[in-house]
Amino acid sequence: MKKLLPLYINRLSPCYSRDHLGNHGCYARNDIPRFLHLTALGRFDEAFYVLKETNPFSSGCGRFCDHPCETACNRTKFDQPVDIKALERFVSDAGYEKGLNPVMTGEPKDKKIAIVGSGPAGLSSAYFLARCGYRVEVFEKHEVAGGLLTEGIPAYRYPREVFEKELAFIKETGVTIHTCANINKESFKDLAGNYDAVIVATGAHKPGELGIEGEQLEGVENGIAFLKKVNLGQLDKLGIKKGEKIGVIGGGYTAMDVVRCAVRLGAEPTMVYRRTSAEMTAHHGEVEETKQEGVKFKFLRSPLKIEKADDALRLTVQKMKLGPVDESGRSKPVAVYGETETYHFDRIVLAIGDKPDLFFVGEKFTVDFPRMICRDLSEDAQSKIFITGDAAMGATDNTGMVVRVVGLAQDTVKSVREYLGETVETDKDRKTAFYNTLNIKYFEKSGRLIEETLPIEKRIGNFEEIVKTVDADLAQLMAGRCFNCGICIQCDWCWHYSDGSLIKLDREWTPEKDAFYYEFLTEKVSDATFKSVEACPRAALSISSAGSSAENLREEQYITKNELEGRN
Ligand SMILES: Cc1cc2nc3c(=O)[nH]c(=O)nc-3n(C[C@H](O)[C@H](O)[C@H](O)COP(=O)(O)OP(=O)(O)OC[C@H]3O[C@@H](n4cnc5c(N)ncnc54)[C@H](O)[C@@H]3O)c2cc1C
Ligand code: SF4
Ligand code: SF4
Repeated sequence: MKKLLPLYINRLSPCYSRDHLGNHGCYARNDIPRFLHLTALGRFDEAFYVLKETNPFSSGCGRFCDHPCETACNRTKFDQPVDIKALERFVSDAGYEKGLNPVMTGEPKDKKIAIVGSGPAGLSSAYFLARCGYRVEVFEKHEVAGGLLTEGIPAYRYPREVFEKELAFIKETGVTIHTCANINKESFKDLAGNYDAVIVATGAHKPGELGIEGEQLEGVENGIAFLKKVNLGQLDKLGIKKGEKIGVIGGGYTAMDVVRCAVRLGAEPTMVYRRTSAEMTAHHGEVEETKQEGVKFKFLRSPLKIEKADDALRLTVQKMKLGPVDESGRSKPVAVYGETETYHFDRIVLAIGDKPDLFFVGEKFTVDFPRMICRDLSEDAQSKIFITGDAAMGATDNTGMVVRVVGLAQDTVKSVREYLGETVETDKDRKTAFYNTLNIKYFEKSGRLIEETLPIEKRIGNFEEIVKTVDADLAQLMAGRCFNCGICIQCDWCWHYSDGSLIKLDREWTPEKDAFYYEFLTEKVSDATFKSVEACPRAALSISSAGSSAENLREEQYITKNELEGRN
């Protein structure tokens, strides 16, 4: 007869998976409940390694990520979301500070992989593959590695020394990076001939165009080109004068970073955006702070033309109003006909989203993520080409995100490994521990972290990091707010309610997904086990009729083969 056996099942937490409202959790698949539990226990090194399984840029993401995980966090429905991002930063910085080294997961292999582009997509792919034992070489056309991490995101949000630590950690896995290596049609063919697989990770760097009169005029420039000069210290090439009036067109990351850099360099920037602050694709809630830094905003204004006017540039804009929601999920701006305005600027920066430039793969190609079909190559070479990051997604309207490209890199790497003959385990299809499955009576309401920031008056004339980090005590306290949705953290509530039908195993709990701590004595399974299941605060336990023997039970519990053998 089949018994109803209680199972300790690792469910997904909404901060990791897509929740029932359609919010996406962490695209990089960071194991958030586990790293937060370890942080709450003060086991920071282990928490660091949990993060490093999935995200080589966890210190960066802990600073600049748009944290979709927090939007999806179950705690939002109880009081306020857990400070996942700030804690990711604390744990990652602490690991680097301590000099922790990367963990290799595979034996050295003789297969060679070339990666074109050293942005977060290229470097993440390199990191994941090198850890598996592959020989990885990255080819970067610029003199500095990092892509938009070094050329786009300014130091006040991601200090260079933090990037250098992340880069050193990646290189520790054996990745080789060739800078000043601009891949063109010829060299791309060579890579396809000489390597076992090639990953294209060249981002989106073809400047977007407004399609209006005057955008080619002297004094009008591209946003990323502007930021590159700031971030690489080429201020002489930028030539900004004190009090210079700069009009910045756009409402995404690039536009926001351009205005905030400009104000730090003594200019007087104005952001011109065709929607309102609510529809901006980046930095929600930062508009007020940026206004305090001295940036002006002209919302619901769409550029019509740019003209020379004496020493300045005259920008004519169309007044707009918000209309119905469009395919991007935001209200579409529509023109208020007959109502225009003009502004005068010394310089105009176009920050309107750039597109991938994949000329070097040849004339005829198709992107079918994670594959790229380059018809100008021989059939054998064609099968070796993969693509990832913004290059694969197009990054239209500035929707690229580092956490997203890290997730894409994981998908591309899985495909490459399978192509090279490996069998790669796929994640079990697990249910999500939504808010309504939790027993929230166990939890008390508490507030979120209030992060210390650099005072506004100290931000002008320098690029000092704005947001300060927390100390270890506060990190532990804040991590303790996590419900640890869907995972067993040995809180013992099931055991208390088990009425003798549970035993506790005499072993240390480890952060691996498949570790287990309690075991039900199958011969004692009774009604009390239902009580245990109901008693779990975090929906980590359920009743299943699937298993009729201890072995089935263990398989369901995600116990590794080794452990199973060890126990039989
Ligand atoms: C100004 C700005 C700020 C941003 N801020 C944030 C933020 O706060 N948070 C966030 O999550 N995301 C942010 N983003 C988005 C994020 O930076 C991108 O989504 C991410 O960098 C894309 O990674 P990638 O590796 O695909 O491309 P990239 O970072 O663009 O890297 C591509 C690399 O390929 C190189 N390359 C191109 N062509 C060749 C070639 N032919 N040969 C050799 N090398 C080549 C390029 O030089 C570059 O180094 C921001 C973007 C911008 C522009
Ligand atoms: S990388 Fe972003 S989405 Fe993922 S855990 Fe960190 S802050 Fe959240
Ligand atoms: S409470 Fe913790 S595990 Fe649950 S969704 Fe929030 S961060 Fe994730």
